[in-house]
Amino acid sequence: MYTVAQLVGGVWGVGGGGGELVVHDPADGSPVSSVPVATADEVGKAVEAAREAAAEWAATAPAARAASLHRAADAVEAVTEELAAAVTAEMGKPLADARGGVEAGIGTLRQYAELAPLRGGRTLHGETDALDFMTPQPRGVVAAITPWNDPVAVSCGLLGAALVTGNVVLYKPSERTPATGWLLARALDQALPAGVLSLLTGGPEVGAALAGQEVDVVAHVGSTATGRSIAAAAARTGAKVLLENGGSDALVVDAGVDPGWAAAQAALGAFANAGQICVAVERIYVHREVADDFVAALVERAGALRVGPGREPGVELGPLVDRRHRDHVHGQVTAAVGAGARVLTGGDLPDGPGAFYPATVVTDCRHDMTLVREETFGPVAPVVVVDSFDEALRCAADSPYGLAATVLTASMSHAQRAWRELPVGTVKINSVFGGAPGGAAHPRRASGQGFGYGPELLDEFTATKAVHIEAPGGGHW
Ligand code: NAD
Repeated sequence: MYTVAQLVGGVWGVGGGGGELVVHDPADGSPVSSVPVATADEVGKAVEAAREAAAEWAATAPAARAASLHRAADAVEAVTEELAAAVTAEMGKPLADARGGVEAGIGTLRQYAELAPLRGGRTLHGETDALDFMTPQPRGVVAAITPWNDPVAVSCGLLGAALVTGNVVLYKPSERTPATGWLLARALDQALPAGVLSLLTGGPEVGAALAGQEVDVVAHVGSTATGRSIAAAAARTGAKVLLENGGSDALVVDAGVDPGWAAAQAALGAFANAGQICVAVERIYVHREVADDFVAALVERAGALRVGPGREPGVELGPLVDRRHRDHVHGQVTAAVGAGARVLTGGDLPDGPGAFYPATVVTDCRHDMTLVREETFGPVAPVVVVDSFDEALRCAADSPYGLAATVLTASMSHAQRAWRELPVGTVKINSVFGGAPGGAAHPRRASGQGFGYGPELLDEFTATKAVHIEAPGGGHW
């Protein structure tokens, strides 16, 4: 059992007057973590303490901050196994995937340590005797509020970029993965000056208290509903808001593709991490010409997945994060069936402990069903059969979300139309996951605002100042 502690003003173990929260292992329901809950008053005091540390950290040379982040990455690397085990225990992800998430996080910390000192401003061409330039400066106090679905990788992105650009950070990890957040903060804190990083724990109310504070940036990765409430809170304080929120990514399967290969792509996109990925495949538009063979191959893939607790070797499909979330997933599937859809495999609540849900393929879906339009965030593949590429593209584009989309096609002109016309941040052709290092995108509409990753995230945490310097009296120096 993990006993989580908060970090405020450089001191571990303070606060928790809001009570205790217990996290249960979604594989068997056993208690995993005991977590202090911050009160609103503690959150306010933590922000005050953080602000006191802000000026010194902002004045630290960028290369020195980068060296600290490299040391922080070393410290995280040293506890890779411990972190991966905590992720699996708290949210159920297969251990190999959890380890991959930790390694991705370490890689991101190192990238930001390398990139940040190289990102300068610009010099301007003004009067000969004047000096004109633009320079990025730290924004000050950053609140980083993070989700549970890939807790280390996501947190390392926000924390690494905010810290290395000279901001102090108040980190509020998800209430479903607080021990993971605590282990991560403990490692990072070893390499940072006291007070630069704070850790606050608890549920949505702690996040809300933090988002309502006079901070300079609120960076949130999580659901759209939460993002909107954070944006409303920040509108009152004037804080900058960075939102990476929900998605309902489409997969378009064009006529003429190999249905077996397309099904393998669909299965990977819909079932990896039990569908709990922001860019998971959430809805599939398949051309009638390949639909029957595609669906048959997808059902076969869903049935072949190895299901079990994430800590067991070889498991491909672990439990969902908790039973509340399972009810949400199952509710969407049941409603679709009530509206005429057909479950070909899965779709039932298994007996036994934990929050397991089978890989589920649902056909006869219509584009207007909630299962298709809304984020499900579970191992569910809803299939809509279409008669043309035009229809598929139109449906894929018609969504309140705008995170990413994938198109499987052998036609270059269809590929070109897809990347030009789809109103989403990321378009992938012929591969559900993947992309070159250094990529970054703007999510659209309900999926958020601002760059949530990549080199551009460094710019989100700085404010650019324009400077004009003249000699006194209009003369020469
Ligand atoms: P969530 O928004 O419920 O929780 C995320 C964090 O916000 C938690 O720390 C939570 O305590 C806090 N929070 C909750 N209510 C709050 C409020 N009113 N004010 C301030 N903070 C509050 O999201 P989740 O369930 O943890 O994560 C799943 C969601 O995250 C999915 O929608 C998924 O698509 C999204 N996600 C998006 C990305 C991306 O890059 N776009 C990446 C990962 C996850």
